[in-house]
Amino acid sequence: MKAPSTQFALWHGIARDTIPWFPTVNHDKCIGCELCFVTCGRGVYDIHDHKAWPERQYDCMVGCTTCANICPAQAITFPDKQIVQKVEREHKILAIVRKEAAAKHAKLDAEKARAQAEDLAAATVSKVSFHLAGEFGEKRFLVKLEALIKDRPFDIVNLKLEVPTLKGALEKTPSHMSFEVTSTDQQDITEFLNEVRTLVRDNQLVLINETRV
Ligand code: SF4
Ligand code: SF4
Repeated sequence: MKAPSTQFALWHGIARDTIPWFPTVNHDKCIGCELCFVTCGRGVYDIHDHKAWPERQYDCMVGCTTCANICPAQAITFPDKQIVQKVEREHKILAIVRKEAAAKHAKLDAEKARAQAEDLAAATVSKVSFHLAGEFGEKRFLVKLEALIKDRPFDIVNLKLEVPTLKGALEKTPSHMSFEVTSTDQQDITEFLNEVRTLVRDNQLVLINETRV
């Protein structure tokens, strides 16, 4: 049996060639339609003499049975799926998968954030809403915000401050503030947004979200 290709050598950290999961073709049944050959995204099959041969068995995705499902001659079989579940138990795969899932979420979130940032930067931005949380009163955040736009072609509109309870505010329970940053002459405000973000950060406030309006 061939060793797995380099990119498929491990399955969640487990050596792929220690996992006996791969297709077997009954050549008495195979009619050489080549559906498995063209369907398998991992290139497991070759066709010789009008028959399918799973030459790279260990490149088969563990748990996949697609080719068996679609084979019109029912010529392809797989081991019992209990084999896969046994490997999962023995290698305590759930702990491995948890880490992989966290890494995948982080990667997807980063890609999403980057795409959003690129979209935002690509187009002219003339109005952006901010949603913040934190303690605003003693920091005089609004006064600083006012100073930031003074004598400049920017404005702050639709300002809302939500204080959950007055007692809570006195005890410094986080409040929420939302506002929209606009250009008074419909110009791009991308550069100015950096100043607003810096002001938010320097005042230890949390930027919950920032949305182009
Ligand atoms: S799909 Fe089935 S019948 Fe068609 S080539 Fe593959 S094994 Fe043979
Ligand atoms: S089960 Fe999936 S990955 Fe494995 S050989 Fe068939 S189509 Fe390819």
